[in-house]
Amino acid sequence: MRSAWRFAAEATLGKLGRDLRTAGFDTLCQHQSRDVHFFDTIDGGRVILTRTRLLKLRLEARPLVFIRDNDPVQQMKQVVRELNLGWCDVNLFSRCLACNQNLYEVDREAVIGLVPAYVWQRQPTFHACGQCDRIYWAGSHHDRMVERLSAIFQDERRENQ
Ligand SMILES: [Zn+2]
Repeated sequence: MRSAWRFAAEATLGKLGRDLRTAGFDTLCQHQSRDVHFFDTIDGGRVILTRTRLLKLRLEARPLVFIRDNDPVQQMKQVVRELNLGWCDVNLFSRCLACNQNLYEVDREAVIGLVPAYVWQRQPTFHACGQCDRIYWAGSHHDRMVERLSAIFQDERRENQ
């Protein structure tokens, strides 16, 4: 199931934004935007992630999580905790980490020559981004991220009980 949660992350929260995209959440990142009025132009349904007290005060009426920690793992835990996100909200590796687009599955034959030969031989499935054409597959990075994210969600569930 695709989660309805959508986010907009402040420039200083690039790692958190990337983690949220990895988990499949639609996340706009301020550092990728050229718009100086970034937070004023995004739609009101997005949860704003900020560490700036002034922004928090100014946008008080908007859905917002005021991030307190420097550590990206703790930042992700705070978002999971405050919004009561569950593992069922997660749709791992469904979104392009570079441009936030949904990925679609591509035919294995179509990526011959576009990915390293040893990768092509080992991986059963490949996904691509419709915007930047990046190709994704379940590599060792994939396993580490699954472990990292599932640990974050498990910890929060335990602490909430
Ligand atoms: Zn992309």
